[in-house]
Amino acid sequence: RIAYVNGRYVPHRSAKVHVEDRGYQFADGVYEVCEVFCGRLVDETRHLDRLDRSLSELRIAAPMGRKALLTVMRETVARNRVRNGLVYVQISRGVARRDHPFPDPAPVPAVVVTAKSLDPRAGEKLAQAGAAVITTPEIRWARPDIKSVALLPNVLAKQQAREAGAREAWFVDPDGTVLEGASTNAWIVTHDGTIVTRQADRRILRGVTRAGVIDALARRNLRLEERAFTVEEAKAAAEAFITSASSLVIPVVRIDGTPVGDGKPGPVALALRAALHDVTEMSHVV
Ligand code: PLP
Repeated sequence: RIAYVNGRYVPHRSAKVHVEDRGYQFADGVYEVCEVFCGRLVDETRHLDRLDRSLSELRIAAPMGRKALLTVMRETVARNRVRNGLVYVQISRGVARRDHPFPDPAPVPAVVVTAKSLDPRAGEKLAQAGAAVITTPEIRWARPDIKSVALLPNVLAKQQAREAGAREAWFVDPDGTVLEGASTNAWIVTHDGTIVTRQADRRILRGVTRAGVIDALARRNLRLEERAFTVEEAKAAAEAFITSASSLVIPVVRIDGTPVGDGKPGPVALALRAALHDVTEMSHVV
């Protein structure tokens, strides 16, 4: 495997960043995970828009233009011969003597790009089985809309899920409403067929896949409500599902051990999963 590190393509096993990289010391950096489907980047414009926003919120200057970064992402995909998988981009504020405030003058931001293959059949199998989720109190900082590499609460929540035999953990606000998963956005389908996901304010990440699902709903004239929903409402819903660039749409079949609907993957979730693929095929394989 090959990684891109600060202007060079290097063997993945020997790819290194500096010990005083602020991403390493302070989690002072941002990232993106973009799907690769049939050798092409999916929704790259939305990913790059979100990356620009994350950088500007943290006042990190973009280390290269969008076109150049896209070229690096595509080149990393090509050098790793990824047809289906993920490309990872991380940009940190750079290397400086350890001190909390922004270094002055600003260092050159550090850029890492990696790519890996995933077997699409594994994702399909997971979708057909459905996923269990647990709920856990929100312990993250107040700006999870910024895609920062500060993911310790997400790591702890995922581990808690794994130990409970679940795939995802939903962060729950003190008011009892579901915010989002540790690495996915959260959705429910009500018994009257309305699809509900939390409004993308500063309390959640504005998922690229979330936007893709909203597009798919609009094309099918399905009813969408962007609002908060409680854990109780989710448990009693007709369906629930989670979305991310790495897993697309995965039906949720259990929440804290309570079956959702009949405890099997729901038809709306599976149709939306297929719809994402259709669009991907139409816009990328031509
Ligand atoms: N929410 C969180 C906290 C995430 O980390 C992610 C993705 O990693 C998502 C939602 C889903 O976002 P996307 O669809 O852009 O992958």
